[in-house]
Amino acid sequence: MPPRRDTDDSAPPPVPAALAHLPIVGGLVVPWITPRTTDGRYLLGAVDAAKIRMAIHRRLCGVCGQPLGDRLVLLVRESDLARLASTEPGLHPHCAAYCTTACPMVAGRRSHYRTSAHHIGPSAIHGADVDKRLGAAAEPWHAVWLTRYDVITLHGHPAASYLLISPLRIRPVNTRLHQNS
Ligand SMILES: [Zn+2]
Repeated sequence: MPPRRDTDDSAPPPVPAALAHLPIVGGLVVPWITPRTTDGRYLLGAVDAAKIRMAIHRRLCGVCGQPLGDRLVLLVRESDLARLASTEPGLHPHCAAYCTTACPMVAGRRSHYRTSAHHIGPSAIHGADVDKRLGAAAEPWHAVWLTRYDVITLHGHPAASYLLISPLRIRPVNTRLHQNS
């Protein structure tokens, strides 16, 4: 038998077959909502405003861009849990699982938010409260499992609300659980 290799925390997780149609940069899937510059670079960490709007209104997954089913996950920062809504699109459970191991902020690989915003074009925006987050300490994320959500407007941005919907469960995102399962 070959010797067992310990998991390398710095190695990108394998790309699931369901995400194989998306571009890959540095071994990581580029989410569908990621804007692209005119010279072809992906602005990882920024989001395309039109795609966010479309995803939330049409109930598309923010990672793969495909329609959500009757099980979806919102990844919500600890400080945003009280709003019972997310300004980021819902995700398929398998896309959320990939994101919680691969996304630098969600997976806890980065201890702080970046200290300067990307320079982005007019079609791309940062998250609604990027100014507040720049340089701030990273905070825990939670996975909110839902069967559906309502579309509301939160500070001028479309948001997926579960105010009137009981979540199936809300779990802290803990990458060690994923790595050991
Ligand atoms: Zn998906």
